[in-house]
Amino acid sequence: MVMSIPDERGYYGAFGGRFVPETIIPALEELTEAYAEFKSQASFQAELAHLHQTYTGRPTPLSHAARLSAHLGGAQIYLKREDLAHSGAHKINNALGQALMAQKMGKRRIIAETGAGQHGVATATACALLGLECVVYMGSVDMARQQPNVFRMRLLGAEVRPVESGSRTLKDAINEAMRDWVTNVNTTFYLLGSALGPHPYPLVVRDFQAIIGQEARQQILERIGQLPDLCIACVGGGSNAIGLFHAFREDENVQLIGVEAGGLGIESGKHAARFADDRRARPGVLHGTRSFILQDDYGQVLETHSISAGLDYPSVGPEHAYLRSLGRTEYTYATDEAALEAFQMLCEFEGIIPALESAHAVAEAIRRAPTLSKEAVLLLNLSGRGDKDLDTVLKALEQRRA
Ligand SMILES: *Cc1c(COP(=O)(O)O)cnc(C)c1O
Repeated sequence: MVMSIPDERGYYGAFGGRFVPETIIPALEELTEAYAEFKSQASFQAELAHLHQTYTGRPTPLSHAARLSAHLGGAQIYLKREDLAHSGAHKINNALGQALMAQKMGKRRIIAETGAGQHGVATATACALLGLECVVYMGSVDMARQQPNVFRMRLLGAEVRPVESGSRTLKDAINEAMRDWVTNVNTTFYLLGSALGPHPYPLVVRDFQAIIGQEARQQILERIGQLPDLCIACVGGGSNAIGLFHAFREDENVQLIGVEAGGLGIESGKHAARFADDRRARPGVLHGTRSFILQDDYGQVLETHSISAGLDYPSVGPEHAYLRSLGRTEYTYATDEAALEAFQMLCEFEGIIPALESAHAVAEAIRRAPTLSKEAVLLLNLSGRGDKDLDTVLKALEQRRA
């Protein structure tokens, strides 16, 4: 049903493409060609699979959330446990894939940008494992907000470079990383963190994350002999969601549902729900790709808000915009409040402390499960663990009690 996408120019229907300065095109071309080769190269795929098995901890388990399902009284909820992947989230799947590619291409220097620090930590981890130099650009405001991750990256041997321009946050860090790449393209590999950016990144990241859905599809078939009725994942840039959805794209009876950050509610404007806010979100170009973007009437990109740093981004991967335009996927949102509620329920009913990002997907499962029969099967991607969020949750709960 869904064609092989993207096309040669990196378009997913009206979305995607390559909106970058001329100077970056040769580097993107080199990456595109190299990736096409690695994708079909058995030895590369075998080496990555071996690393995943012996280092990442793959396959990650599939857990039946039996108590939560019984409590909700509807669908059986199954959790794909990316929280148990090394370094605590799905991000390692992509970081390791790209770092291995860089090593094979003879690029010994890796650069990345990070907002909350999670992608920086995954990149630093992969670089330590493979013996690659690692430079992470991070806005100085973000560095102050995310000190534990700055410390983690440094422990892992990475250099964290503070970015003092603009608002000193993620978008300035991206600009700085781009500048570095243009200058040092012969020696340097730009390791991008979500299913975003100019072609071929959305494709590369999707393919490295597709292992989530491949494993989950096989696991659920082996476990209960049927496919899920619906798949749910949270959507920041969109990498864990597209990684889950990809294996099910041709299973027309499997509903695919992405959950964005509803923040303080759509009306408030303080959210990161690129698909839910008809008034503020329109197609446009950001960071090299065409997709849905939260913007004002003049096309200025808007500030976003979410209790979870990983979902707090004004644009979304182009393949999501495309699949939505086909009607293959649907998107909804969970507010900070709903995510916090879901966070606590998963702790209490299943003994699992989820990442706040993942808690948005849990919130949607909690909303939907009771409307479905007890035979229905709901597959939820638990993208990461919540240790990193304990401070945030503690403060939010105290504020609520006050
Ligand atoms: C970064 C992150 C996300 C959001 O990124 P996607 O690219 O949308 O997957 C979700 N969950 C966790 C745990 C993260 O660290």
